[in-house]
This record gives sequence, structure tokens and C-alpha cells, in this order.
Amino acid sequence: MPELPDVAAYLDAIDRHLVGHTIEAVEVRGMAVLRSFDPPISEIEGRRVAGTRRLGKRIVLELDDDLFLVIHLMIAGRLFWREVGAKTGGRDVLMALRLDNGTLILREVAKKKRARVWLHRGEDDLLAEHDRGGLEPLEIDRDAFATRLRAQNRTLKRALTSPATFSGIGNAYSDEILLRAGLSPVKRTAQLTEDEMDRLYEATRDTLTEWTRKLQQETGDGWPEKVTAFRDDMVVHGKYRHPCAVCGTSVQRIVYAENEANYCPTCQTGGKLLADRALSRLLGDEWPRTLEELEERLDG
Ligand SMILES: [Zn+2]
Repeated sequence: MPELPDVAAYLDAIDRHLVGHTIEAVEVRGMAVLRSFDPPISEIEGRRVAGTRRLGKRIVLELDDDLFLVIHLMIAGRLFWREVGAKTGGRDVLMALRLDNGTLILREVAKKKRARVWLHRGEDDLLAEHDRGGLEPLEIDRDAFATRLRAQNRTLKRALTSPATFSGIGNAYSDEILLRAGLSPVKRTAQLTEDEMDRLYEATRDTLTEWTRKLQQETGDGWPEKVTAFRDDMVVHGKYRHPCAVCGTSVQRIVYAENEANYCPTCQTGGKLLADRALSRLLGDEWPRTLEELEERLDG
């Protein structure tokens, strides 16, 4: 699922390609994609893209006349930009937004299409539906971070990825943050020492900042074509059984729902292997049992 650094790369590209241009036509294909009906989606035709913003992992196009087009990529949704005259069709295209200078394509290569689009009139309506209340991790100081993290006693993995706690952190970057902080994913927020809290705060900022910068450099003036949750230069995420890039220990995992958390035993758990059931036991009923439920929880 695209997280803060990935969404930031998309927003940056949308700023460069779409802002200031007018939407000439919109086509939504696929019944489940459009999740709002009032105002009708055709309202955006003839409207100019005035700006962009991010709400959690959601991409918002601010249009003239107080209209907001919200795109949630969920796990496999991706955005592409096609110059005027280029092909914009294809089986997996869910939405095509034709502007005067090119076409924005929402595409999802997956059997079950989960990406969603909404149109709202007015900021109140937008925020009521899409603001999950998470703090922006790059805009808060250490004390605000600590207070929010300790508001509920949960595992660090759960606390970092909760959209009501922090905005834009999901499964991939939480794995990388916890590795960098040297903390176990199943350690509970109430158990953190002040020193560990310092490390977690720094690791959160550094990880998100570095990846945002890296993706922006990769994209340059172009379009982020290769957005993925699995990157070669990640240290633990998606690296099960590969050597940890810091210490060389074989990376381990805890499987939950149809997902997994990756961690390095040497860097994070004092050499201890966490049983697969450790996460669900520590999280109790709070942890989602199915992938659908997980997405609902993580989709902020
Ligand atoms: Zn390690």
C-alpha cells in the first residue's frame, strides 16, 4: 500500500503535471471504484485543478468551485500520466481523467479491485469523510509524538500503523522505522523508556524523510512509475530470510491476517524469535483477522 513517501511522490508529480490545468472529461470504469454519488462525478468536467493535498494515505485533488476529488490507492492501485495522444485504455484502468495537457490514469492490477474514488463538495464534507485524526509524523515534535503514542497501550507495530494515531505510516515503513529504532514490533507503547521514545521519534522522522527524498530524486521531473511497498534497499521489509542490511542476521517475520511484519532478531529483539502467534496474542481482539479488516484499519 502506498504510504507517506509514495503518496508524497505522487502529489509532487500531480503538482507538476496537473495543477493549473482543466479536466475535460472523466471516465470511471468499474462499479466499485466510485464511492460517492452526490455531487455526480461529471461535475468535475470543465473544472481546473487548483491544488493538491494528502490526507493520510489519500490523494486529494482540489478543484475550482470547492470540489475535492479523493483517490485512495489501497494496496495495488497506481497512478500514471499519459501525454496527449498516448493510449489510455486497458483492462485494469479504473479511472481516466483527461485534461487539456494529458491524462491521469488510475490503474489496479489485481483480481479484486480495491482502489476507491470520492468526490466531495466543500472542505467540511471532505474532512468529515476522510480525516482519520492521525498526527502528521513529520510535523510534530518529540513530546507530541510521545503523548500520542502513549495515549493507548498497544504494540508499536499497531500504534505506528493506526491511521488514528499517525498519518501515512503503513506496514512497509513501520517495519523500517522499528528496525532503525532497534525496537521489537510487539513491544508495547507503555513499556518504552524515554531513551527508546527518543530513538523511535528520530527513526520515524529519518525513515520517512529519507524515503521521501529518495523517491523524489528517483522521479526527478517525471512521473513515479515504480511505486511499490517492496524496495531492494529496504533493510527488513519484504526481506524474510534475507540478511539484515545492518548486521547480517536472517530477517524474520510474524504472520498476521494475510500480511506479515518483518524484523531482525539481532537488531530488534535481543536475539529472540517471536512466535507467529505473538502478535495476535499481544494485540488480543484488537488485531484484524482478515485482510479486508486489516485494510479498513490501515486505510487512513
Ligand atoms: Zn540486524
